[in-house]
Amino acid sequence: MTGFLGVTFDAEQLEAGRILFAQDCRFMLSAAELAQVPEAGLPEVAFIGRSNVGKSSLVNALTGRSTLAKVSNTPGRTQQLNFFELGEALRLVDLPGYGYAEAPKSNIAAWTKLVNGYLRGRVPLRRVCLLVDSRHGVKANDREMMEMLDTAGVAYQVVLTKADKIKPAEQGRAVTDAEAAIRKHAAAFPLVLLTSSEKGAGIPELRAMLAGVAAAG
Ligand code: GDP
Repeated sequence: MTGFLGVTFDAEQLEAGRILFAQDCRFMLSAAELAQVPEAGLPEVAFIGRSNVGKSSLVNALTGRSTLAKVSNTPGRTQQLNFFELGEALRLVDLPGYGYAEAPKSNIAAWTKLVNGYLRGRVPLRRVCLLVDSRHGVKANDREMMEMLDTAGVAYQVVLTKADKIKPAEQGRAVTDAEAAIRKHAAAFPLVLLTSSEKGAGIPELRAMLAGVAAAG
């Protein structure tokens, strides 16, 4: 058993996660508009969060690749949905980040159309991982995203990123604050995971959770 801030996963679950993510992960395509989104196939798990939250780093840490998702230092530039296929089990969908202060209004409108269009109408979408920087906690635009997901009826879970950037003493608080923030949200999975792509903390646990999603079909 591995304990991780009150969350326990047994050896079998962790092994299922390890096996799932040990499979070949291949880039499928980038969709800049809804018409380019691939036909429904494998169950999908999507990743979303504010620009610079550490989304690309997390996708890379999960898949054990350093270059699969592009880690960028220019937030707000990419406006594409990136699809990856993990063996014959799961699709990972890297959604463009939100909340970039300098983004022009036209970009925000395009982002909203693309992301909301995908999230609202996607039949194989099983889970959204809503990434939140553990240093900053849940912000107003994260709450807006949660409300959108509640309305769309898409199951989501909060994953805290960059745990290595806060002191161990602050980590429990970051989790309980995030859990309090999601309590009122109908479609939120009540469990918050704390991760560090840099140090690997929480990555086996997130893999185990996603293996559960994949196994449910
Ligand atoms: P994205 O814009 O959400 O895809 O974020 P990136 O993955 O590009 O990461 C943004 C910045 O945060 C980069 O400089 C990363 O190196 C850094 N970063 C991402 N994850 C972590 C982490 O777990 N720990 C630390 N210390 N830095 C991280």
